[in-house]
Amino acid sequence: MKDKLHFNSQTIHGGQEPDKAYGAVMPPIYQTSTYAQTTPGGHKGFEYSRTHNPTRQALERALASIEAGEFAFAFGSGLAAMDAVLKLLKPGDEVISTDDLYGGSYRLFTKIYEDFGIHFHFVNMASTDALNAAINENTRMVWVETPTNPMMNVIDIKAVAAVCKSKELLLAVDNTFASPYLQQPLLLGADIVMHSATKYLAGHSDVILGSLVTNDKHLAERIGFIQNASGAVPGPMDCFLTLRGIKTLHVRMQRHCENAAQIANYLTSHPKIEKVYWPGLEGHPNHTVAKAQMNDFGGMLSFVPKGANYNTAIQIIEKLKLFTLAESLGGVESLAGHPASMTHASIPKNIREQSGVVDALIRLSVGIEDVRDLIADLEQAIA
Ligand SMILES: *Cc1c(COP(=O)(O)O)cnc(C)c1O
Repeated sequence: MKDKLHFNSQTIHGGQEPDKAYGAVMPPIYQTSTYAQTTPGGHKGFEYSRTHNPTRQALERALASIEAGEFAFAFGSGLAAMDAVLKLLKPGDEVISTDDLYGGSYRLFTKIYEDFGIHFHFVNMASTDALNAAINENTRMVWVETPTNPMMNVIDIKAVAAVCKSKELLLAVDNTFASPYLQQPLLLGADIVMHSATKYLAGHSDVILGSLVTNDKHLAERIGFIQNASGAVPGPMDCFLTLRGIKTLHVRMQRHCENAAQIANYLTSHPKIEKVYWPGLEGHPNHTVAKAQMNDFGGMLSFVPKGANYNTAIQIIEKLKLFTLAESLGGVESLAGHPASMTHASIPKNIREQSGVVDALIRLSVGIEDVRDLIADLEQAIA
């Protein structure tokens, strides 16, 4: 029966059973490294907590449920989850990635895995032309992030999946910005969906955790092997917090989206604002794809004040009182960031400006406060 639930019930019940020992409704935090055996190999399914832990297992079952997958794996961070995906590859293999990419993902690809003989191509996936052109006999995997950070470009997952199917390439999608409330990549043809659960899934800016979900049994066996063999697993406390966060994902996401819509409209009609990037706006270059692919448009948006430069953009951010100046996103509280000096500082200015990340760009992670207070805060900072 639980398989047939709607998404807004799956977040609470999907994959979940009361704890077997005492019927605890929330799984206890099994803060243990090992489990008693009656005879060598005689145990209740748990031997050692790198391999399996009941709290982690409860989280993994919830993750599988909300991503419409069969197999889920939790990791110590989003990047640790990505790292496990890259370990599916061998020297000489090539990966084609979206060009507008989370900085840490770009760093993992280029600064770690290039040295292990895996090659990366970064292409614009607004259409599949550049993707098709980059495929060669060594291509094994396509990595997609959508919506992208901080420009909120939306990539058509179904269209990319069709190319991957025809060329027998693995398709992995970083679903961190959207969350499964907005889109479920496995249903759109992806083989693996990855999350920095640090963001919307956990949702309270109090945990670092990553996850992978797949429907492919063979891939699941490999990923499970890598999870145990490489050992980048999260502790039970972090699993508990993430599971607790997932239970309110749908109500939080609904409010994130509503607030972002109001702020996007407010900024669009503001005389001192030049540009607003939010996929829900009709003028957004990928609005049509976003409308078809996503259930709503998310809580992330970026904007450029008129006539602003590096310094005046920073001045506006520093004047904000309710929006906290900080990295990260997806928590209940609103955050503001300056990509040119923060998340994208390591990318050369001319390259970052080509994709729209100008010095005056300001990024908001719109929280779930009363939107009137958020707009009042923006009003006084922009004035
Ligand atoms: C934060 C983030 C990551 C990395 O996740 P961590 O949990 O910080 O390791 C990967 N992709 C995206 C889109 C992110 O926002």
